[in-house]
Amino acid sequence: MFGPFRASPTPPLVDIHGRPGTTLLITAGMDGDEYAPIAAAYEAAEKFRDGDFNGRLIIVPIVNIAGFEAHMSANPIDGKFPKYCIPGHAWGTSTERLIYTLVQTYARHAGLWLDLHSGAQNEIAIDCAWNDITSVEDIDARGTACITALGIDAAIREPAYRGLKTLARYGCAYVLAESEDEGTHAAYIERTMQTLGMLPGTPASRHTRTFSKTRPLRTFEEMHALQDGEVVVWHTIPTHGECRGAIAYDEQTS
Ligand SMILES: [Zn+2]
Repeated sequence: MFGPFRASPTPPLVDIHGRPGTTLLITAGMDGDEYAPIAAAYEAAEKFRDGDFNGRLIIVPIVNIAGFEAHMSANPIDGKFPKYCIPGHAWGTSTERLIYTLVQTYARHAGLWLDLHSGAQNEIAIDCAWNDITSVEDIDARGTACITALGIDAAIREPAYRGLKTLARYGCAYVLAESEDEGTHAAYIERTMQTLGMLPGTPASRHTRTFSKTRPLRTFEEMHALQDGEVVVWHTIPTHGECRGAIAYDEQTS
C-alpha cells in the first residue's frame, strides 16, 4: 500500500521480566531524530537484560523507524508526530496504527510510560519533563512522584490532551522527559525504576520548579526578554534572528 496507509516499520523492542512487580514502558525515538535518548534506551536494554530488578521492563529504543531513517522527527509516511497520536487508532494512518499497537499491546499493561526526548537536530532542550494533568487521581499522583524524582530543572504540568486521559483510564501514567545528555537519560531511567520500587534506593531529591503553562517562543529577542519566573524549555538554534520554542511559566505568578 502507498501513502499514509502504508505500514510503519516494526520498531525494535526488548521485554524483560524481572521479579514480581510493576511494569514500566520506556520509549525513545518517538521523534526519529533525537539521538541521546535512543542511545540511552539501547544501553538500558543491555544493562537490565538479566532481569535483576522487580517488575517488567519494556524498552522500545526507536519507535519511529521511518523518521529515524529519514533523519526527521515526524513519521515521513504520513507526516504525523507519534507523541501527538496517543492512544492511536486501529484503522488510522501509519503513525496512528503504530501507536495503537504500542498502546494496546504494551502501554495499557504498564503502570508508567517514560517517553524519552531531546531537542531534535536543530533544537536545544533543558532537562525538563512534561507530565500533564489527566484528573485521574492515582495516575496524576504517580506522575508527580516520578517527575519529582527525576532531578530535573523544570516540570511542566498542563491539562492533558484527550489521548493521555484515555491512557490514564487504562491505568498508565505518561511522563515525557527531555535532556540533551545520554547520561542524564540513563539517570532518568534508574530514578524512575527506583520510584516504582523496581530498583532499591531512593533517588536523591532536588528542587524541581513546576510550571502550569507554556507559550510559544517566536523570536530570538524573546529569549532575552523573559518575565520573572519564566524559563525557555526548548528552542531552535537561531538563524537570522528566527527562533522557535516554548516558554514555561506559572499561571499564579504571571
Ligand atoms: Zn522530542
